[in-house]
Amino acid sequence: MKVASFDLTPCIMGNAGAEWKTAIGTRTGREAWLVRLAADSGEVGYGYAPATTHLGSTFGGVEAELKLLAPRLVGRDPFDIEPILTDLDHRLTGAAAAKSGIDSALHELMAQNLGVPLYKLLGGKFRDSVPILRILATKSPHQMAEDAAGLVAQGYRYLKVKVDGAVDTDVARVKAVRERVGPDIQLTIDANESYTTKDAILAITRMVDYGIVLVEQPVKARDLKGLKLVTDSVPVNIEADESAMSVEDVHILISDRIVDAISLRLPNLGGLRRTLAVARMCEAAAIGYRMGAAVGSRLLAAQSLHLAVGLPNLTFGCELGEFDRLTMDPFGGMEIVDGTLSLPDGIGSGLKFTGA
Ligand SMILES: [Mg+2]
Repeated sequence: MKVASFDLTPCIMGNAGAEWKTAIGTRTGREAWLVRLAADSGEVGYGYAPATTHLGSTFGGVEAELKLLAPRLVGRDPFDIEPILTDLDHRLTGAAAAKSGIDSALHELMAQNLGVPLYKLLGGKFRDSVPILRILATKSPHQMAEDAAGLVAQGYRYLKVKVDGAVDTDVARVKAVRERVGPDIQLTIDANESYTTKDAILAITRMVDYGIVLVEQPVKARDLKGLKLVTDSVPVNIEADESAMSVEDVHILISDRIVDAISLRLPNLGGLRRTLAVARMCEAAAIGYRMGAAVGSRLLAAQSLHLAVGLPNLTFGCELGEFDRLTMDPFGGMEIVDGTLSLPDGIGSGLKFTGA
């Protein structure tokens, strides 16, 4: 099998509900590129390369990166994925989202060629489904509690409260959500870098009373000393998200024990193969991990799910359900049922390209 051709197609999705606001700003939808690879033996594989400006990737930038990298795939055997990815790294530093789209499409080609689901290429599975964590956009405490109750009514047991650095309001948000959903729902927090170190310690210390299990990226991504001080100062797991943008980042985070956990996101880490490497590093270092927010098409969520079912230490809800609030998904064939996402049947990711 050799890669015969590639196509790059824009994938623009909208928000189904009201505006989506976090500490980073307000988003109106999701922009990404679909990478379609066709093999000389007839297989077709898709990958998803999102533009996420607060993580450093733009729509035009990802397009330019893909146009630079994708021609280098033509004539290569997808089963040579490690030499291929190393070649791409030599050609262009960084560009994790573009490389993730390519890595995922190569995995899909391999799975199609072998006639197996993706997880078979990633080491097999411990489980057939994962619990889904849903994200509460930043609103007033009352409105966030309302949104939380709506999600719990749909069957979700894991929620993430987005906060924005205003300590009193943020504590009130967590309090309102906890009082509304009761003690059995697992709550995590995401500050998206919005706290100073001392405010993070103050806020988290006050939130402890409301039963939070993890706080994601409390301080600036590059403030590793501040991040470590927060980790060392509070009795709650601290997780790196924006700080964990490469395998090399994660090496520093875990070797200096700067955080307790790492957010695993394919577009941040460069695809399935690099993310699996990061998971192994975390396991060796006794650092936790989660499947972080895969915001975009079902394709990204499904490919992330195939990795998640084979991770031994998955202990928190997976953030693989945000496709549910987005419109115009070109892929179908997977829905969340009772707060749980199950592996689709079929070869590769198991999804169907509908092109809608
Ligand atoms: Mg985050």
